[in-house]
Amino acid sequence: MEKIKVGISSCLLGQSVRFNGSHKNSPFCSEVLSEWFDFQPICPEVEIGMGVPREPIRLVNENDQIRVKNVTDQSQDFTEQLHQLADDYVPKLGDLCGYIFMQKSPSCGVFRVKVYNENGMPETEPAMGVFAGQLKKHYPLLPMEEAGRINDIRLRENFIIRVFANHDWKTNVLADPQPKNLVAFHTSYKFLLQAHSEAHYRRLGQLVADAGVQPLNETLKKYFTLFTECLSHVAKINNHVNVLLHMLGFLKSQLPGSVKASIIKLIERYKEQKIHLIVPVTMLKHYVELYQIEYLLNQKYLSPYPYELGLRNNL
Ligand code: SF4
Repeated sequence: MEKIKVGISSCLLGQSVRFNGSHKNSPFCSEVLSEWFDFQPICPEVEIGMGVPREPIRLVNENDQIRVKNVTDQSQDFTEQLHQLADDYVPKLGDLCGYIFMQKSPSCGVFRVKVYNENGMPETEPAMGVFAGQLKKHYPLLPMEEAGRINDIRLRENFIIRVFANHDWKTNVLADPQPKNLVAFHTSYKFLLQAHSEAHYRRLGQLVADAGVQPLNETLKKYFTLFTECLSHVAKINNHVNVLLHMLGFLKSQLPGSVKASIIKLIERYKEQKIHLIVPVTMLKHYVELYQIEYLLNQKYLSPYPYELGLRNNL
C-alpha cells in the first residue's frame, strides 16, 4: 500500500532541531507510524533561519494579539516570519492527510500552549502555536494532533482513523467526484460514523440523499465538513456496543444460536471493560468473512486502518 503523506514536527522524528540542540523523538511516530505514513517533517523555527542552538521563544499576548517573541529580548518578534512560512507551505501541503505536532511549542503546539503577558507573567488563556495555527486556518479539516496526546490510546485511535479516512476521501471521492462515489463512501462508513455520533450520521445521510439535487461541489464540501466533525467525536463504549449488536443482527440467520450467544457475551464483557474492543470485532469480522455478508464486508468499522497497528488491542 502506498504510504499516506502526513506532516510532522521534525524534532519528533529525532532530528536535533530544538532550541537547545536536542530532539523529542517519538518512537511511535518514527518506528511504528512511519511504516504507514510518509512523514513530511518541518521545523518552522529552523526554516525561518533561527538556527540551532537558538534562544528560546514564547507566546506573548500583546494588545489581544498573540505574538511569538524571544524570551529575553522582546524586540525580537518572529510572528510574521512564521505566518509567512505557513502561507508559503500551503501549496506543498495540499496532499497531506494529517499532521502531528510537538506539544507546548510556541510554533508547533496545537492545544493549550502557554501565553505570557508583556510583563512576562503567565496568562490564564492558552493559545495555539503560531505556525500550527496558521496551517489550521488554511486546512481547518486536516486531522491535527500533538505527539503527547497520542499517548492516550483513545485519542491515538481517533487520530489514526481520521488520517486514513481523509486519505480514503481524497482517493475515492475527490479524485473522481460523482454522486455514486459519495454514496459508496458514505455506505462503507455507516457503522463507523454511528460509533462516533449517531446524530451526525443521520445528517450526513440526508446530505447524501440530496446529492443529485444540490450542486455536487457544495454537497461534497458540506459532507466532508460534517464527516470530519463526526469522526472528531471520540467513539464511546456504549456506541461501540450498539454498533456491534446492530452488525450482529445481519448475521442472525446464518449463525447457530450458541455462536450468537457467545458473541453477545463478548460484547457484554467489552461493555464491562473486561476485554478489549478487538475481541468482539475480530469475532464478528470472522463470521462476516466466513458467510460473505456483503453489506458488512466493506464496512470501515471492521478495518478502519491496518490491523497491524493493533490499536483496538488496548481500547
Ligand atoms: S517543536 Fe517545532 S519548532 Fe520546536 S524544535 Fe520541534 S519542529 Fe522545531
